[in-house]
Amino acid sequence: MRNPTATGAPCIALLSERIDLRYLEPAFRAACPGIDLRHGTNVDALGALDQIDAAVCWFPPHGLLAQMPRLRLVQSLAAGVEHITADASLPPQVPLCRIVDSGMALGMNAFVCGAVIRHQRAMDHYRALAAQARWEPRHPQSPEQHTVGIAGLGHLGTACATALAAIGYRVRGWSRSAKSSGPAGVQAFHGAAQLDEFLGGCNTLVCLLPLTAETEGFLDARCFARLPHGAHVINVGRGAHLVEGDLLDALASGQIAAATLDAFSTEPLPPGHPFWHDSRITVTPHIATRTSLAVIAGQTLENLAQVDHGLSPPRAVDTGRGY
Ligand code: NAP
Repeated sequence: MRNPTATGAPCIALLSERIDLRYLEPAFRAACPGIDLRHGTNVDALGALDQIDAAVCWFPPHGLLAQMPRLRLVQSLAAGVEHITADASLPPQVPLCRIVDSGMALGMNAFVCGAVIRHQRAMDHYRALAAQARWEPRHPQSPEQHTVGIAGLGHLGTACATALAAIGYRVRGWSRSAKSSGPAGVQAFHGAAQLDEFLGGCNTLVCLLPLTAETEGFLDARCFARLPHGAHVINVGRGAHLVEGDLLDALASGQIAAATLDAFSTEPLPPGHPFWHDSRITVTPHIATRTSLAVIAGQTLENLAQVDHGLSPPRAVDTGRGY
């Protein structure tokens, strides 16, 4: 895409306090030759702040976006935006967009289906037996006898629910609002009033909620107590969805049999953390899915072009709702 905005090649800031976002530069330059890319976390590194049209963010420094008078788009480089909305001085008039990507949904489907199957078909058990050359078959449980509940029936949750239903699992989903037309074959629940009924049937619970004030700590002792005994918990949302001590207690009591965790309150997970040393917990380093760099660049430029044409950009989030 060449010069996609109404004003020509834009000036885009790559902002993160956590990682060096310069790896995005080739994708932006390929999508928009002549683009003015800045990176850094302060005025010295970024140059004149009044030249910046859009900011691509992953944990941006607080207070900086509010100092950019020309800013017309804040773009998350992920599906979630909580790392941006945590900045209390976020300019409210500037649209905030997230990545919505079918490729990201495919990656999440593969991760979640793999984790569900691995536990439900006792693959770790058979691997341990195989290591001792032991041939000890048990009658396998059919997918139809196992219910997977997806908390968060949005872009990624709907894709995972559809994929799991297609391979025979009983699937239920929980969202904030009622769904007039949910994915085929998926039993839909919504709101706080239906949460206990939803949880009560989940042999595996998958957290695919956005992180908001309402969903923080969703995976806690109360939630675990409402699941069937011996449930498997998969957290592919955010680390702060999980109350870590409550999970360790629920594993100790047997209420939860296993956990697959991809996101953590502290990342990287510290070397001495108890999750590393519990064989019932599978730790992965926040790799459930990713978006291609070309998609991040393309969606940023498209969103900015929409704003510059006086349109509401697609994939804008409702900052009042938090997702
Ligand atoms: P989304 O499209 O915004 O969907 C969010 C879903 O959560 C919606 O169904 C929404 O309900 C529901 N929800 C929100 N607040 C709720 C509440 N208080 N109670 C019940 N349901 C609630 O989000 P997405 O694109 O599917 O992404 C979900 C999350 O996945 C992201 O925010 C991010 O944290 C995580 N993620 C993780 C990775 C990884 O690699 N681990 C990668 C990408 C994304 P409504 O349908 O009623 O609005």
